[in-house]
Amino acid sequence: MRMKKIIVAIDGPASSGKSTTAKQLAKKLDCIYVDSGAMYRAVALYLLQNDINFHDKTMLRKALVAINIEIISSKHKEENTIILNGENVTKKIREPEITNYSSTIAKDGLIRERMVELQRKLAETRSIVMDGRDIGTVVFPHADFKFFVIASIEERAKRRWLENQNKGLGSKTLDEIKQELAFRDKTDSTREIAPLKKAEDAIEIDTTNLSVQQQVEEIYGIIKNEIFL
Ligand code: C5P
Repeated sequence: MRMKKIIVAIDGPASSGKSTTAKQLAKKLDCIYVDSGAMYRAVALYLLQNDINFHDKTMLRKALVAINIEIISSKHKEENTIILNGENVTKKIREPEITNYSSTIAKDGLIRERMVELQRKLAETRSIVMDGRDIGTVVFPHADFKFFVIASIEERAKRRWLENQNKGLGSKTLDEIKQELAFRDKTDSTREIAPLKKAEDAIEIDTTNLSVQQQVEEIYGIIKNEIFL
């Protein structure tokens, strides 16, 4: 049975399991997945590469016009491919320097305004699962489904540490990772514009003791009950 066009917003702190869940959920629902964090990462990369201080609003305005971000999302591929002004930066934006800097530049109102505009465009014609920090609160306040995914900081640090090990990026200790996550949590949830917070009508999912499969099934079950009835 074909469902109507839907928007699923999944927000939560770093390494809470939201991206993994969102990707698999999109596949099950046969819609596209968009990783909004990758867009802030691409902006951070551009500003660093071009030595642009985002506090200089004249320079920033010019940069935001010059930045072209393409999110290639296919129903057959879980990962988004991120193209920044013609260059495939999918891997580069995951580097630690970019990870930390993306939280800093994500506080800026001009940058957020531009990203929100692009994110809304992506959902104009298609069903979409988008994950981030402000998707249910700001980007799509009228999303059909909103989830807020959380997990303890210990569990999140452990997951990130394991992910680094699997990718051969194993130089950071568990404690260092925990500190970085705490820094990003604080930056994201205390900023003035679009802070990380649960939308009033979002369903909270605590993934601390859930496997990826359980997380996906829980969310999929909630959606399926409503749309396939
Ligand atoms: O999701 P990810 O950790 O890749 O996002 C990188 C950074 O981008 C986050 O730490 C956050 O500061 C910012 N971000 C945001 N709003 C979003 C998605 C990400 O501010 N919707």
